[in-house]
Amino acid sequence: MTSTASNPTATAATNYSADRHANFNGLKCKECGTEYEAKAIHVCELCFGPLEVVYDYEAIAEKVSRESIKEGPISIWRYREFLPVATDDYIDTSTGMTPLLKANRLARRLGIKELYIKNDAVNMPTLSFKDRVVSVALSRARELGFSTVSCASTGNLANSTAAIAAHAGLDCCVFIPADLEAGKVLGTLVYAPKVFAVQGNYDQVNRLCSEVANTHGWGFVNINLRPYYSEGSKTLGFEVAEQLGWKLPDHIVAPLASGSLYTKIYKGFQEFVKVGLVDDKPVRFSGAQAEGCSPIAQAFREGRDFIAPVKPKTIAKSIAIGNPADGVYALDIARKTNGNIESVNDAEIVEGMKLLAETEGVFTETAGGTTIAVLKKLVEAGKINPDETTVVYITGNGLKTQEAVQGYIGEPLQIEPKLDSFERAFERSLTLDRLEWQTVSV
Ligand SMILES: *Cc1c(COP(=O)(O)O)cnc(C)c1O
Ligand SMILES: [Zn+2]
Repeated sequence: MTSTASNPTATAATNYSADRHANFNGLKCKECGTEYEAKAIHVCELCFGPLEVVYDYEAIAEKVSRESIKEGPISIWRYREFLPVATDDYIDTSTGMTPLLKANRLARRLGIKELYIKNDAVNMPTLSFKDRVVSVALSRARELGFSTVSCASTGNLANSTAAIAAHAGLDCCVFIPADLEAGKVLGTLVYAPKVFAVQGNYDQVNRLCSEVANTHGWGFVNINLRPYYSEGSKTLGFEVAEQLGWKLPDHIVAPLASGSLYTKIYKGFQEFVKVGLVDDKPVRFSGAQAEGCSPIAQAFREGRDFIAPVKPKTIAKSIAIGNPADGVYALDIARKTNGNIESVNDAEIVEGMKLLAETEGVFTETAGGTTIAVLKKLVEAGKINPDETTVVYITGNGLKTQEAVQGYIGEPLQIEPKLDSFERAFERSLTLDRLEWQTVSV
């Protein structure tokens, strides 16, 4: 790599309080409360607990109002007072402020009244929610003096890290499992990072990257920069509250990989309540996993408060993390908010992708198929009340996982460039219902 690979400890002594925007003043262990400087570290030296950013909420409350946020950029940076970036030199690639779509046809199909899709399938620049976390991580990485950034990825993170590093002019090195979908590999390579395809699953990739982080001193967005990275997911909570007219929903359903996204939506809602931007109310948190990699759903079902790691085997590769770092925190939130964590099999995931496309015109990837299939399962089991205002988080784009639906969505009818050929085919199409059409093509 580059000879200027930076040493994180050399640049860590910046005095952030000098900046008017520095609303955070360090890191704190989630388990034992030990405090640390806001450097590139992610685990507690004493108890190995995860570190989290500490904010001065009084300072934030003084600076923000609904009006000041509305006047801000049309991106996650409208919430910058809540994000761990000390300077005004953040990386803005128009990430965030994705549509909150009222999903009337899907709601009717499922038998519930008020359903919204938070559509990060069209998040910028790489069409998944990962652009949020990477924008924050790389902004912070640059402040901390890193010139090379990296990640251990299940696919979308590699796309985001490579694209946003390219935009910011940072050197980039990404690590992926060798069996990723073609769209995710191509969608990384095009930004010209160094890509290492590891012969192993994500959990093995992640272990390897922890070692590389130690030996090379690179900024790994989801390892040594994880406390900053994970804060980016709070914006999925902020945006939904703002888009609902400064109100919290009754129930949310989100996918779980490491569990980070899910726990940070919760934190985002809580922070808006804390600084007085929205009224407090109970929000139920439900989570979605693929059966072939469902360690959190299994623990939830069995009433356990520890996670037993699993070996992933599912088409929902972007959420296939067998040893989820934030699994126990996700369990805790599901239980204390009276939510549920459910899993669905690969066939149900494909059905979920098709259901969302056919009812709402949104083409999501396998993770979104998982979430929609779990939504359906929860409604059918009476675990989502038809009167609850429910928000479903769609986190990735279907064009990246085309393999998943290939063979399940029919084929075009082949015709000659002649009117009678069209008429015959059209006649025939009327006799085929959707299901037969599919069997014809398989
Ligand atoms: C990474 C990812 C998630 C979940 O991420 P967490 O590790 O739980 O924060 C969800 N959906 C998609 C499409 C992803 O790429
Ligand atoms: Zn600790």
